[in-house]
Amino acid sequence: MIAIAKPYLTADEAQYAYDTILSGWVTQGPKVQEFEEKFAAYTGAKYAVALSNCTTALHLAMIVAGVKAGDEVICPSMSYVATANSIKYVGATPVFAEVDEHFNLDIEDVKKKITLNTKAILLVHQIGMPADIDAFKLLCEQQGLKLIEDAACAAGSAYKGKRIGSHSELVCFSFHPRKVITTGDGGMITTNNEDYYKRIKLLRQHAMSVNDRERHAANKIIFEDHLEIGYNYRMTDIQASVGIKQLEKLDSIVAERRKIAERYNAAFSDLKGVSVQKEEEGYFTNYQSYTLLFTNEAKLTRNAFMEKMLEQGVATRRGIMTAHRESAYKEECKHVSLPATNYYSDNSVVIPLFYPMKEEEIAKVIETVKALLA
Ligand SMILES: *Cc1c(COP(=O)(O)O)cnc(C)c1O
Repeated sequence: MIAIAKPYLTADEAQYAYDTILSGWVTQGPKVQEFEEKFAAYTGAKYAVALSNCTTALHLAMIVAGVKAGDEVICPSMSYVATANSIKYVGATPVFAEVDEHFNLDIEDVKKKITLNTKAILLVHQIGMPADIDAFKLLCEQQGLKLIEDAACAAGSAYKGKRIGSHSELVCFSFHPRKVITTGDGGMITTNNEDYYKRIKLLRQHAMSVNDRERHAANKIIFEDHLEIGYNYRMTDIQASVGIKQLEKLDSIVAERRKIAERYNAAFSDLKGVSVQKEEEGYFTNYQSYTLLFTNEAKLTRNAFMEKMLEQGVATRRGIMTAHRESAYKEECKHVSLPATNYYSDNSVVIPLFYPMKEEEIAKVIETVKALLA
């Protein structure tokens, strides 16, 4: 069976984690700081704050952006459910807008959904493909809205020649094993805004006025204060040491993923009724996932294709989910109409792409897809 995805972890990461465990400092400490400095430098952002995962990163982004109960935040329904949930955590309402053929927010539909209650736009770079950040930044400036980027899948992707993470004030990343690099679980916020940076650092550690490193380094007794109601959203030093090693490899992992994707693109470009994701000028994707989009001219329906692939020993997954049709949202969304979102979600499929993928595995995926759809 060819898996849909696999994390690329080797003895290098194990060694880094081993060394950290034996160092005696295992939760947030010097390795977290080192990972943050290296991640900020990598993305070109001024600051980075490591967190327990991207969902908690999104939650803190909502708080520092000032999103509160009664506010509305526009986001895609076609995303992992954590996108919408992060808006709910602060008592605000996710307002779902349509996506385009790149699976990213459709700005014309977003404009139609802005109301007096809109506070922010949560822009997702879906499966690593950057959204048009400049267009959304301009819209937010014009409308007095905050922009938050859900870059969970987009570490190593770039937009207009600059890596994701440096374009706006709140960019949230994930290091879940299904993403391009992993720390087991983990997240990061990058920002150029010093006030956001300081507040996120406080909130992730119970809003404690003194952190463990400062206390450890001090030569006198310090009593901490808790400045507001905070959270425990820390990353551990064990995770961070794995992240440091993964980050060193990120560009080469992305390059290898792109080579596989290019072979898929070439092999599948003239299949009837099936299209591959197009990368426009100025957009650089890390191919966190590789998708095929079906029309009714395809030889098989999407679901029949998935069944046949499974029979042939090749894993597939349905396209990106929609939040508005999940049980948790169904009732409040019963009047929500998102035909494009439903179409893209119901007619797309993810096929295996990971690194390192064996030559036989790449060849088998290509042959199997072509045999079924050509
Ligand atoms: C994976 C993912 C998340 C959640 O990330 P975690 O680190 O698992 O919390 C949020 N948004 C999107 C778009 C994702 O793909």
